Amino acid sequence: MKNTKKTIKDFELLGKKVLMRVDFNVPIKNGEITDDNRIVQALPTIKYALDNGARLILLSHLGRIKTEEDKINKSLLNVSRRLKELLSREVVFVDETKGAKLEEKINSLSNGEVLMIENTRFEDLNDKAESKNSEELGKYWASLGDIFINDAFGTAHRAHASNVGIASNISESGVGFLLEKEVKYLGEAVDNPQRPFVAILGGAKVSDKIDVIERLLEVADKIIIGGGMAYTFLKAKGENIGSSLLESEKLEYAKEMLDRGKDKILLPIDSVYGSEFSENATARIGDSSSVKSHELGLDIGPKTIDLFEEELKSAKTVVWNGPMGVSEWKQFSKGTISICEALANSAALTIVGGGDSAAAAIKFGYADKVSHISTGGGASLQYLEGKSLPGLDAIKNK
Ligand code: AMP
Repeated sequence: MKNTKKTIKDFELLGKKVLMRVDFNVPIKNGEITDDNRIVQALPTIKYALDNGARLILLSHLGRIKTEEDKINKSLLNVSRRLKELLSREVVFVDETKGAKLEEKINSLSNGEVLMIENTRFEDLNDKAESKNSEELGKYWASLGDIFINDAFGTAHRAHASNVGIASNISESGVGFLLEKEVKYLGEAVDNPQRPFVAILGGAKVSDKIDVIERLLEVADKIIIGGGMAYTFLKAKGENIGSSLLESEKLEYAKEMLDRGKDKILLPIDSVYGSEFSENATARIGDSSSVKSHELGLDIGPKTIDLFEEELKSAKTVVWNGPMGVSEWKQFSKGTISICEALANSAALTIVGGGDSAAAAIKFGYADKVSHISTGGGASLQYLEGKSLPGLDAIKNK
């Protein structure tokens, strides 16, 4: 998509209070950040703002907040500390989401200084003010700054107070470099793709991908389906799937899609079957003619890998969303790794659409070998479905 939105570069930032929505919704285990990719990805926009003399106010959510107790593990304090290390600059952390203390700290910022407010979703304890985009909250946050920059692609598919709310109540707004880049890549892939355009879908659930399959049937030349969701399609074709993942209520839908996408949809022809759903299950390679009733397909098999790789060889554009098997478990990760490898060896524009496939590409060492890894699973799926992103729509046009 050609970007028609204002960007951070369209503004004179010196001395301005810049409210920036970032996506610092990072995975945290026992208080430790286990993957700081989202913080790293936001650095170019943050650095640009600071180098240009902005008084920067960062807003982000972290997880979901339903009770007071949720606040204990969902503070952004540790995230602010990691940001400080990555920036090698002081980051003022305010453990509030509104009020006099926050306002005072913002007003005492000097040019080139950065402040981070506490998790925006703490406001969800107040009748879901953040997630339901309370008018009052959006107005309040907007009143704290002069310019709003949205760089949070991961939440761009949601209309929350900290993105759409602020953007709708401030006179100046633009996108940051990360959001701009995400939309540019996804736009290049689906709005006017170089052909053949091959989409790869995997992961657990057909129901999550219904809209994207419908849309891809219109725009893609081939749709490769692997992962747990493939078995509902195989069953719809009348194949035996043993105890593999099945969404029975989606069988009719799968039949209809197979009918509509006759030559477009490519399904697995063999699988790695596990004797049970466990990391240490006994595994064997086979196909639907040999699968036993207790066995589950937990990865695509070697013949399928060859079939999918062959299809990817001639592709000019590839978008991938969802692992080919239970890639968290070593003996069922080969299919997903092979797709990473095929994308890495491809001359095509290759885009990994967030979520588990992005995590897999990073974990298996392919992050630098594809054209783009999206930071937002839900947002990239919504974009692929052809729907607009409210967090982007709310930003002022050039
Ligand atoms: P999704 O969030 O829909 O992209 O699904 C990702 C999850 O699907 C991962 O946790 C995988 O372990 C899981 N998954 C992938 N393939 C299979 C399979 N064949 N059987 C069960 N789960 C699977």
